[in-house]
Amino acid sequence: MIGLTVLGSTGSIGVSTLDVAARHPRRFRVVALTANRDVGKLFAQCRQFQPRYAVMADAECARELARRLAQVACPTEVLSGVEGLESVAALAEVQFVMAAIVGAAGLLPTLAAVRAGKRILLANKEALVVAGQLFMQEADRNNALILPIDSEHNAIFQCMPHDYRRGFARVGVERILLTASGGPFRQLPLERLSRVTPEQACAHPNWSMGRKISVDSATMMNKGLELIEACWLFHTTPERVQVVVHPQSVIHSMVQYVDGSVLAQLGHPDMRTPIAHAMAWPERITSGVSGLDLFEVARLDFEPPDPRRFPCLSLASQAITAGGTAPALLNAANEVAVAAFLEEHIGFDAIPALIEAVLNDLTPVAADSLETLLEADREARALAEQKARKLV
Ligand code: NAD
Ligand code: MG
Repeated sequence: MIGLTVLGSTGSIGVSTLDVAARHPRRFRVVALTANRDVGKLFAQCRQFQPRYAVMADAECARELARRLAQVACPTEVLSGVEGLESVAALAEVQFVMAAIVGAAGLLPTLAAVRAGKRILLANKEALVVAGQLFMQEADRNNALILPIDSEHNAIFQCMPHDYRRGFARVGVERILLTASGGPFRQLPLERLSRVTPEQACAHPNWSMGRKISVDSATMMNKGLELIEACWLFHTTPERVQVVVHPQSVIHSMVQYVDGSVLAQLGHPDMRTPIAHAMAWPERITSGVSGLDLFEVARLDFEPPDPRRFPCLSLASQAITAGGTAPALLNAANEVAVAAFLEEHIGFDAIPALIEAVLNDLTPVAADSLETLLEADREARALAEQKARKLV
């Protein structure tokens, strides 16, 4: 049996992970589940999966969960805080850790799993954006295997040669073709972008996801974060990654080889496919997702991203090129801007403007330690919050 910790089990990815795990009860044992504040959902998951541990980031919520579990005589032990998250990520009885906390909040628990040498099923792209270099170094040092859950990176992983770590040139890879749906506003007249609501931004045409990543998809900062994620995961540079808008989200990304071949991975837009892939790799297991009916799909369209509509994409590209703490600054400013938009404090078009203003005011430094990265995150957050208040 494989012991599994699901960090962020109450979220969209967490729920899909438990759906896959429940289909294979002889293969996976859920050892720990975690959430931020959703007591009701974590309580229900504890009753269903009977994990050894449950962690709530919020201490008050943890007490409430423990009280409710005691009432129904559920033996799950409840922990709290970042320390609780870190400890269940590193348990000896756990081999796989699903990293599905949203945002930089996932960095420390995911890093704890890396340092404990686990198989990391990495959904939490922000962790890699903030601390890519440190993360990959620690994975190497501790023999941790990082398998991408992000559908694009999972697709790229499936299309890459097995020895891609030797470098693109040696293995004959020309470039990565990173697909993007273009989100809900791909065709909206530009002058209307300033008036879109959080509900409209979260209504993704193809994927059902948490609210933060849904807004990121609408601004295409999601693709920007994924560009950075791809550079770290596949040891490459932004020049070797071409973003391709593909509105149907049937091809999840491609790898182009020097001989002219392009390999693609296709499937329904359902995260249980990449989750099941990474949970079983190098084997294959059922995920609950049906096969693709190509006659129903009928056509696949492609177009280049529009830089005027999606300025976040070039902000992200500039950040990875600048290096050091620049991606951490970008990510923190984006998290603040997205939260301010979701709370209806700023308009949709203020998101890229706010991020750019933060990046203009702060100077990136070498990302030489975790403390430096966390400090960059704090600094950019504080400045973004200050700038967002001025916009209200
Ligand atoms: P979500 O908002 O649905 O869930 C987030 C989870 O993280 C919840 O369980 C929540 O309780 C927990 N959480 C939030 N803040 C926390 C904190 N401060 N401390 C501890 N736990 C906290 O998000 P999601 O859509 O499931 O996305 C999770 C991650 O996966 C994100 O990094 C996202 O970019 C990535 N991802 C998601 C999808 C998708 O289809 N949803 C696809 C690709 C990548
Ligand atoms: Mg993705």
